Amino acid sequence: MKVRLDKTFRFEAAHWLPRVPDGHKCRRLHGHSYKIDIAIEGEIDPDLGWLADFGDLKEAWKPLYEQLDHYCLNDIPGLENPTSENLCVWIWNRLKPSLPELCEVVVRETCTSACRYRGE
Ligand SMILES: [Zn+2]
Repeated sequence: MKVRLDKTFRFEAAHWLPRVPDGHKCRRLHGHSYKIDIAIEGEIDPDLGWLADFGDLKEAWKPLYEQLDHYCLNDIPGLENPTSENLCVWIWNRLKPSLPELCEVVVRETCTSACRYRGE
């Protein structure tokens, strides 16, 4: 039986978008309370009765949290243009090797804006 697990993480960071036109509000340095959803999908282990330990998701997320939380995203290699879209793919590419069951990453900059990535 196939199931999907979602876990939500948070971090605070500053960013600005260097490629938007002059005068666009996102070109100014500002911050977000980012909310990240990480989802994995797979078969339930018949003995354990679960797909994975939620703690494993937390462990996989931890090194990324340490790179992102309370930093300016533009200073992080690969995030020079830190849109939600680029951040979503950046997170996916770093989680996938240690979480092969990864099926979706969601980045929420605000309560009403989200970007989803499910790989190529
Ligand atoms: Zn922003």
